[in-house]
Amino acid sequence: MGNIIKIQKGCKDILPENVTTWQFIEEKARETFSKAGFKEIRTPIFEATELFQRGVGDTTDIVNKEMYTFEKSERSITLRPENTAGVVRAYIENGMHKLPTPVKLYYMGPMFRYERPQAGRQRQFSQVGVEMFGIETPVADAEIIALAVDYLKSVGLNDLDVEINSIGCPKCRDEYKNKIKEVLKDELPNLCEDCQVRYYKNPLRLLDCKVDSCKKIFEKPEIQKVIQSDYICDECSKHFEELKLYLEKLNIKYKINKLLVRGLDYYNRTVFEIKSNNLGTQNAVCGGGRYDTLVSNLSGQPTPAIGFAMGMERLISLIPQIENPKLDVFVVSDNMANALYCTQKIREMGFSAEFDLNNRKFSKQLEKASKVANFAVFYCENEVQKNVVNIKNLSLSTQKEVSFEELGSILHNER
Ligand code: ATP
Ligand code: MG
Repeated sequence: MGNIIKIQKGCKDILPENVTTWQFIEEKARETFSKAGFKEIRTPIFEATELFQRGVGDTTDIVNKEMYTFEKSERSITLRPENTAGVVRAYIENGMHKLPTPVKLYYMGPMFRYERPQAGRQRQFSQVGVEMFGIETPVADAEIIALAVDYLKSVGLNDLDVEINSIGCPKCRDEYKNKIKEVLKDELPNLCEDCQVRYYKNPLRLLDCKVDSCKKIFEKPEIQKVIQSDYICDECSKHFEELKLYLEKLNIKYKINKLLVRGLDYYNRTVFEIKSNNLGTQNAVCGGGRYDTLVSNLSGQPTPAIGFAMGMERLISLIPQIENPKLDVFVVSDNMANALYCTQKIREMGFSAEFDLNNRKFSKQLEKASKVANFAVFYCENEVQKNVVNIKNLSLSTQKEVSFEELGSILHNER
């Protein structure tokens, strides 16, 4: 006999006692997104490594450090670390650009990132997200942010902070990058190792650094002056101003956070994050933004797009756990065949039912019934003879003898 095999680091089993809460947030996602005309898409869990290198970007932490990549038949394959790239691949490959715009899609499922596991951070985790293709105007950005807020409210998160920023277009961003490099030139040796690389490869990402010593440097007034400056071009600025008006119209409170740049390369113009203050601590639950060049970068027709992704484990950790619902009926009988027959009949009527497969004595069966079900249905020898059942409402302790036909309507009315 070998050792007990344990679960992999950074992974979690979702056990039956927790699964109802998962089903609840999944159900709310389907409901909220389909109400807004979004259709579900399911793409594979693994894709060509190149999709993420070209899609997410090879200067990002996700691609550089966090991907689960392996070779199979001389092909390099990666477990998806996020799903925007996969959805864009499917959009292009299935000719969805021929559909009337906007094309509105949502997804949910597991993602994989080789990160240091800690609270709210796993190696296999789940995301629910939406993508909207074909609309360049900021009304799409507002609809997407409103949709994210609607969904979070629908699962019971009300104390939300919506942070928005515009990172401009490739043109105005380049000027900004140069300004950031310029003002940080003398601080370069004092930045963390990652930031020293970012400085050359992707200076915008410097602002996203979580290392305290870097954050301190960025607080210096002359550096803040550059960070806080309005660098985006007139067109990007107009886009952002319109978005703000729409959000105000919808009464969605937002904060502008100039440090918000997001950890993926494909974004332009609007980026946003939503934090929840449920349970006292602040928690980033949603990240999203506009990605107008990703479809063409992946060799599709140029198509503007915007979307968001939310971490489902983080949502779960912020809402009260929902208890598994009780069974409608537990059948109590002195005979296995009769118990099985009666249970099947009740299931056929559309109610949930179980019986005692252990064939224990009557009192034990009744004890079990009151623990797991709302009703006990007795189907013993005398009931079988009369072709009736006795139904007991276990919370009211009322009992009556009824025919099988009446049983259905009683369960329906009293449930
Ligand atoms: P963070 O800054 O927390 O690393 P991120 O910018 O990497 O987040 P995105 O890639 O935008 O996050 O993913 C969107 C959401 O997915 C996050 O807001 C978070 O709720 C969730 N998420 C991201 N990485 C993980 C992880 N390793 N484990 C659990 N949830 C995660
Ligand atoms: Mg991350």
